[in-house]
This record gives sequence, C-alpha cells and structure tokens, in this order.
Amino acid sequence: MSGISPFSIPKQPPVILVADDDKTIRVLLREAMEHEGYRVVEVSDGKQCLDAYETVKPDIVLLDAMMPVMDGFTCCKQLLQIARNNLMSALASLDTESALGNTVISKIWERTPILMITSLNDEESVDRAFDAGATDYVTKPIHWAVLRQRLRRLLQQAQVYKQLEAANLALQHLANVDGLTGLANRRRFDDYLNTQWINLAQEQSPLSLILCDIDFFKFYNDHYGHPAGDLCIRKVGTVLSHKAQKSQDLVARYGGEEFAVIMPHTHASGAFHVASAMQAGVRSLQIVHKGSAVSQYVTMSMGVATIIPTWESSPSDLIVAADQALYQAKEQGRNRIILK
Ligand code: GH3
Ligand code: MG
Ligand code: MG
Repeated sequence: MSGISPFSIPKQPPVILVADDDKTIRVLLREAMEHEGYRVVEVSDGKQCLDAYETVKPDIVLLDAMMPVMDGFTCCKQLLQIARNNLMSALASLDTESALGNTVISKIWERTPILMITSLNDEESVDRAFDAGATDYVTKPIHWAVLRQRLRRLLQQAQVYKQLEAANLALQHLANVDGLTGLANRRRFDDYLNTQWINLAQEQSPLSLILCDIDFFKFYNDHYGHPAGDLCIRKVGTVLSHKAQKSQDLVARYGGEEFAVIMPHTHASGAFHVASAMQAGVRSLQIVHKGSAVSQYVTMSMGVATIIPTWESSPSDLIVAADQALYQAKEQGRNRIILK
C-alpha cells in the first residue's frame, strides 16, 4: 500500500487573515506573523475581508477597526453572521434529535476568533469591538509581544475547541450507532421515535413503523457459523438502508437479527410499498440459507403498523402493533409482510 498514514501528514501552518488599510502596518504584521510560522493573507478593507473569509477559511482574523468601504466593527458583525448562517445550514441538514444540543454549543464555540486592532484606545471603541462580537483586541501602536501572545492563546483555544468538538461527535456516534451494521442503534431508535411522535402529534400526520426479523436465523448461525451470520446481518442492514429513501426515514438495528424502520409522514400504503422493496432487495442478495424451511435464500418476515400520533397514545402502542403484525407474519409461514 502506498497510502499516507494520517500521522505522517505535515501540520498545516495556521492561516491569519489580516484586514488593514495601512500598507505599512500590513507589511509589519506579515513579517511578524510569518516569523511565528503563520501564513498570512492580506486585505485592505472590511468588504474584501468578507470575500476572502469564505475562500481562505482562516484560523484567525486580525481586523483593523478603522477602514474605508467597510469598517472593522461592521465587518466583525457580518463575519459572525456568516458563521451563524453556516452553522444553521449545517444544522438544517441534520434532524432535530435530542443529542444535538451539545453539537450546537460546540459549533458556536468553534467559530473563527476575531482579534480587533484599534488605535482608538478609549472605552467606547473597546465596548464596540466586543459588542460586534470580537474575541479580543489589541491597540495601535502595536505592542508586538502582546499581539504574539494573544494570537498564540487564541489559536490554542480554537484548537482545544476543535478537539472537544471532534470528541463530542465521536461520543455521539458511539452512543447512537450500532457497531456491526453502522445503522442507528436501539437507543437512537427510541430517541427518534419519541421526537417524531411529538412532531407528528402536533401536525396530525401519520407515522409508520416496519419491524423485520430474519427467518430461521438461528439455523443460519448453526449451519454457517457466527461470523457468517454477522456478515449476513450487515448485508441485510445495507439493503434496508438503501430502500428507505426519504431523508426522515430511520433504519435501526432493533435487536440481534431484527431491524426497525421509522417512517414519518408516511401512510400505511407507502410503508407497505417500502417493506415490499426491502423484501425484494433482501431476496435479490441471494444469500444461500440451507436451514430455511421457506426459501433457498435468506428471507425476512415483516410487520407494518401506521398511526396518527395523539397525546393519549404513546410510541409503545405503535411498536406493539408492528410487533403483533410481525408475529402474525411468522405464524402464517414467514417470508411475508403483514399490515396491521
Ligand atoms: P424465526 O424465523 O422465528 O425468526 O427464527 P430465528 O431462528 O431467526 O429466531 P430466534 O429469535 O430464535 O433466533 C435468532 C438468532 O439470531 C439467535 C442468535 O443466535 C442470532 N443472533 C442474534 N444476534 C446475532 C448477531 O449479532 N450475530 C449473529 N451471527 N447472530 C445473531
Ligand atoms: Mg429474532
Ligand atoms: Mg429470526
């Protein structure tokens, strides 16, 4: 293998976006920053700074307070607005689950630090800088040792926040994802069902649930061994997740060889249609199953239930209904779908 290990990738130097209309200051800043090992991108007013921010994705912005076209205070506010918008669109692509609160908080903290440089050493402009959302400030004439230390500290803090964010995401992943299949686990299933229950009770919109269970799986394990059984579970899980196509559908590993599919805003007929596609998908895997009494290949039994959530009923009513349908599917000979 010629792949490069992630540990051998050289660390990128931090990128500092410098916005100052004074050429001399920019040159001095660049020299000082490059001496520290940072990369520097220069712009000469607030407007250019906004444009450069999106493309450069700096680690820190050094922002002069007084500049033509757009001053530092306005620019600072708008940089925060950009960060906020980016955060909102990142969130919009996720669903509204309970564990999200922590992500939101850490993402807000993760925003690029903004260091304001102001020659206006009066109280008012310092207040204005912080009101605009600056992380910190230094005054002109620049005290280079102070600037150096502030930058180091801000970069270190940003680094710590990034690591916390990564650890936070990794923990959320571990808490919500099934290790064998990569699907949602039982905990995530419960959270999501509860959340959707509340949403759909408000909207008075249907919620469907499919419970499925691999037929004669004990015999499969007995015949082909546990590792082969694991592989079979993974393949089936992959097919199910491909067949659930709406972004709000959630496919979970419910238990050993049982899966559950939560389908918000879905009527019984739609859920039955998806269940049929899943059944066909699993069949077309053609996983040979000598221990099955119903087919030469691995098959599933499925129970489908639909409900319009109310405040009087609860998610467990839906689970019970789907479970009863699944039980009937087993009773009636397996490899079939029963709609409750
Ligand atoms: P039925 O058609 O009635 O569903 O019969 P079945 O044999 O599938 O039902 P049962 O619930 O009795 O057996 C399920 C088996 O699934 C038992 C267990 O050994 C196996 N199983 C559960 N989890 C795992 C897993 O993670 N990996 C593997 N390989 N097997 C598992
Ligand atoms: Mg089972
Ligand atoms: Mg089974």
